[in-house]
Amino acid sequence: MKKRNVDLVCDIAELISLAEEGGNRKELMQSVVTSVAKHMMADVCSVYIYDEEEKKLILRATQGLDRSAIGQVKLKLGEGITGRAIRELRPICVGTASKSSSYKFFPGIHEEEYEAFLAVPILRGLRRIGVLVVQAKETNYFTPNDVKALRAIAAQLATMIENVQLLSEARLEASAPAVASVKKPTTESIIRGRSASTGTARGRAFTLDSGQSESCLLPDPDAPPHTAADFEEAIKKTARQIDKLQVQTSEKLADVAVLIFSAHLLILEDKQFAGRIADLIQTDIPALKAISIVVNEYVEIFSKSKMPLIREKVLDVKDLGNRLIRNLLNEQADECDYRGQIIIAHELLPSDILKLSAENVEGFIVSSGVTSHNAIICRSLGIPMVAVSRELADGIPDGEELLMDAEQGIIYLRPSSEVYAKYRGLDEAWKALHNASDMEEQTVTKCGERVHIFANINLLSDLPPARRFKAEGVGLYRSEFPFIVRNDFPTEEEQFAIYKKLVDQMDGRRVTFRTLDIGGDKMLSYYSNVTEANPFLGMRAIRFSLQNKDIFCHQLRAFLRAGAGGGSRIMFPLISSVDDFVAARDIVYECMDELEREGVPFSRETELGVMMELPSAVEVADELAQEADFLSIGSNDLIQYMLAVDRTNEQVSKLYLAHHPAILRAINRIVSAGITHEKDVSICGDLSADPRMLPFLLGVGLRNFSIDMVNAPTVQRLVSGIKIEDAEEIANSLLDFGRISEIEAYLVDHSLVPETEA
Ligand code: PEP
Ligand code: MG
Repeated sequence: MKKRNVDLVCDIAELISLAEEGGNRKELMQSVVTSVAKHMMADVCSVYIYDEEEKKLILRATQGLDRSAIGQVKLKLGEGITGRAIRELRPICVGTASKSSSYKFFPGIHEEEYEAFLAVPILRGLRRIGVLVVQAKETNYFTPNDVKALRAIAAQLATMIENVQLLSEARLEASAPAVASVKKPTTESIIRGRSASTGTARGRAFTLDSGQSESCLLPDPDAPPHTAADFEEAIKKTARQIDKLQVQTSEKLADVAVLIFSAHLLILEDKQFAGRIADLIQTDIPALKAISIVVNEYVEIFSKSKMPLIREKVLDVKDLGNRLIRNLLNEQADECDYRGQIIIAHELLPSDILKLSAENVEGFIVSSGVTSHNAIICRSLGIPMVAVSRELADGIPDGEELLMDAEQGIIYLRPSSEVYAKYRGLDEAWKALHNASDMEEQTVTKCGERVHIFANINLLSDLPPARRFKAEGVGLYRSEFPFIVRNDFPTEEEQFAIYKKLVDQMDGRRVTFRTLDIGGDKMLSYYSNVTEANPFLGMRAIRFSLQNKDIFCHQLRAFLRAGAGGGSRIMFPLISSVDDFVAARDIVYECMDELEREGVPFSRETELGVMMELPSAVEVADELAQEADFLSIGSNDLIQYMLAVDRTNEQVSKLYLAHHPAILRAINRIVSAGITHEKDVSICGDLSADPRMLPFLLGVGLRNFSIDMVNAPTVQRLVSGIKIEDAEEIANSLLDFGRISEIEAYLVDHSLVPETEA
């Protein structure tokens, strides 16, 4: 009978989903080892869990060894083959255990009969969780494929064990008698959501919902009375703070945050606002209550406005109310911001995120789905964001102590000291893995082929990390953010100043500008009140630009002027036909002629490219490659449009599959078209930094990757471990499969694993 590693991975996935619904840890571990032993046809399968305090591995489940040893067998780091696997953080596969110098068997559990030994560490990042061990009587029984399968299972088990561990620890603590416990009493609980921007955040929950009037901070009824003079002072102090914030933010985020707090100041200076609060105070209404009344009146008016631009001010007026209240209550404090707080909001605008980030917010929990631009802007600002259901968000009380693991989409309420300690360790491991100083100047495959890593830039603040991580240029500049957060279209001069900074800071390295990609879920509140039934299929990206030639021309002129020194390129998003591309290119030529007549410097050599994001573009990839100077695969939209799966809709997120055979074949067609016509092809969607898909992408011939630069050390490291010959073999095999399930099974078997000891 053959070993059935693929079935095994599926079974484990099922078990893990059971664990997520909350199951008994002991039974789950036992089911795992039974399942692994059965499918691998191994005589023994055991799980050892690492105890941080004891610094020992403890046998927690076994199939094949004497079960009475569970909890009794303990191994130090480095002790035996199992102890070595966890100390060295790598799988160890031994053909004849009795001949291995590190073999150590435990008397009484009948271990001595087994010769083949495979130990795979269970890790979360660099954190040690445990070891998964299989043993067999037959020598040299385990193959490299078994190592890969066991690694895939260990990876899945890591999260499951950690979560079950945390939950059971929390339950244990909650049920322990208070007097016996020296630990902080806790009733920790966990909420699961979806990651929108990774990282961890710690802080107190603060609900700031822009859609509901009652969510302005309600003053404490026992607060001391305040006079009209106190209120005057609070107004002045608030104005000073906002002025300062505006200056700081304009310096830090020059491209997007110009006058971003102007609405705050306008409202604050509005006599009707401050005057009405002062009037209420005169009628003996306590100052805090007066603020709350007036703020809520404004929220009511703003949120009912037909104009999106006014509706967007709801959060500003609430923020202002909260500041006034805090400044009244805490006259001594100079600063007043969201430090130490995690904001829970139903909905957020990119401008809200910028403002709250300037006010030092720690993280965001949102409950109405995450628009792609909100996720992108949070990633650029390095702020963790998790999307949860409305029901779950409403269940988090204000002031609750939270720890957010936005990588996993997990939120801990009242986390225990163990959880805090674990995340401190994880944060350090993460930093070590994403260390810019580990980067080499050049990225090269194992067989010596050059691969180029470019940066995706959303805000100018992404530039310093791009340089630090040694980006070879900018592969995608998403130009829409300065448009989205303003109150009007930026002028050609304003745009030129931004784009010039980008070019200057990249110091002669290639910069690829993308023309405006608005529409879909990136709306301009100041432009149109027309709501489209299907905005993703509507007036988006190049369609908007072709329809609004003036706006398009201002942007093109600004790009061309900024790129006058040469080496910059322009690409058009959401091109659906050669005709679209030619129409856009003709307008670029018109702008070039105009600049020439005006004597304004620019480069005629500026290359013009197509973003390959639509199934229709894939069908005419050949003609597009012939016509354009370069192609860039926008995999985020390509997946969305090819599979008809909204990239922001949580309900269908399981169907959003980068490894769908149609996507793989589309990518192959695009790259082949580029190769045939000797045109440069790159990839700039999230797929470009997906470790699972890297061998495929290299195998079909991609050499240019534009990524969020924080992923650069990982991508470089992985590329350096791949031989093009192997990648091509992987790509060819994957392109042959017609089913998603076949591709998934193949990917499990061919994941990028470290070398194992033979
Ligand atoms: C893409 O669609 O892959 C892409 C890079 O563009 P955006 O994510 O900005 O739509
Ligand atoms: Mg796109």
